[in-house]
Parts: sequence; C-alpha cells; structure tokens
Amino acid sequence: LFITLEGGDGVGKTTQSALLEEWLTGIGRTVVRTREPGGTEVGVLVRDIVLHHRGDIAPRAEALLYAADRAHHIATVVRPALARGEVVIQDRYLDSSVAYQGEGRQLDADEIRGLSLWAAAGLLPDLTVLLDLDPRVARRRLDADDKPFDRLESEQEDFHARVRAHFLAIADSEPERFLVLDASRPADQLAQEIRDRVEALAAA
Ligand code: C5P
Ligand code: MG
Repeated sequence: LFITLEGGDGVGKTTQSALLEEWLTGIGRTVVRTREPGGTEVGVLVRDIVLHHRGDIAPRAEALLYAADRAHHIATVVRPALARGEVVIQDRYLDSSVAYQGEGRQLDADEIRGLSLWAAAGLLPDLTVLLDLDPRVARRRLDADDKPFDRLESEQEDFHARVRAHFLAIADSEPERFLVLDASRPADQLAQEIRDRVEALAAA
C-alpha cells in the first residue's frame, strides 16, 4: 500500500503522517514513513540544493533535481518496501512537483507529470490525501509554532494560491486516487477519516 500526503506548507502533512503510522503500526502493519525531497542520503543533498538555492535555480533545472531525488528514492526505498508488503506513507510526491514546478513555476503541468512518472518508472500511489487549506491560514499556523513558511518572502503573492488551486484541480481529475480533506478541521477528525479510507483500501 502506497499512501502519499499532499498540500502546501503548514497544512499538517507531518502530523497526519505520524498519526497514520501510529495507527497502522498498532494494527500490526510494517510502515515505512518517508518524504520527498530528501528521503535518501543522496536526496538529502538534493534537498539542500533546491531549498538553499531557491530563486536562483533555473526552473527546468529545479524540476530535474526534484525528479532526480524522486527517481533514486522510489527505486531504492519505496519499491523495495512495497515489494516486502510494507505500507509506505510518503510526505509529498509527484503531485507536489506538478503543483509547484508545473503550475507554480509555470512549466507545463503535463510535462512535469510525465517527467515525474518517468523518474518513478510509472509508480502511482494507491491513495493520495490532499490536505487543503488557505495558505494564509497555514502561514499563521506556522508563525504561531515559530516555523518558517517556506518561500513566502521570495515568491510572488499569488504563488501559494495557484499551487493550492492546482492541487485541487489534480484531485478533481483523479477522484479515485484522492481523498481531499478540509485541513482547517481538528487533527483527530482528519486522522479518523484517513484511517477509514485506508481501512477500506486494505480490505479491498
Ligand atoms: O514539505 P517540505 O518541508 O518537505 O517542503 C520543502 C519546501 O519545498 C516547501 O517549501 C515546498 O514548497 C517546496 N517544494 C517544491 N516542490 C516540490 C516539493 C517541495 O517547491 N516538488
Ligand atoms: Mg511538513
């Protein structure tokens, strides 16, 4: 079972990943919790480049760095875990690339999807949870926790709004893969809805 969590910064992906891992482990499943960018040793180096040089990397080069991180991560971490019958819970995957590099950076969304799928040799998640939240609310949450809202300073005002809208558009186009949740709701309610969906998937 391959489950990904998507959405902007500060929507609660990390919290929900942790809650889902705890529940799955409790019912006896082996879980690999991972993320992109940065889910491998090589990926940590790539993450360092893309996050510390944002704004001064050419958009196509940035897209290729994310794709390189993905190719290595899927081949060396995700596919082996799935082959062992484990559950993979992943913070961000190809939909982030389509939304951020495709729509946010105004590269072509279909081309970025194609690049991502090439990098991952076609692997799509069984379930993608989209945590949807107004980026202004997300930013306030991160401010309250004293965590940085990545990029806001360096991006044009509408960047995060466009990314959010594009995540929703992707979810609309693939309703069977997506569970879209209003991330302004309490974390325990969101966690329960995610569990219900995962349970249904695991039973199918
Ligand atoms: O969620 P995480 O902390 O891993 O994301 C780090 C930063 O990288 C975020 O600010 C996110 O906006 C950005 N990112 C991106 N394109 C991706 C994945 C993440 O711009 N494909
Ligand atoms: Mg996070």
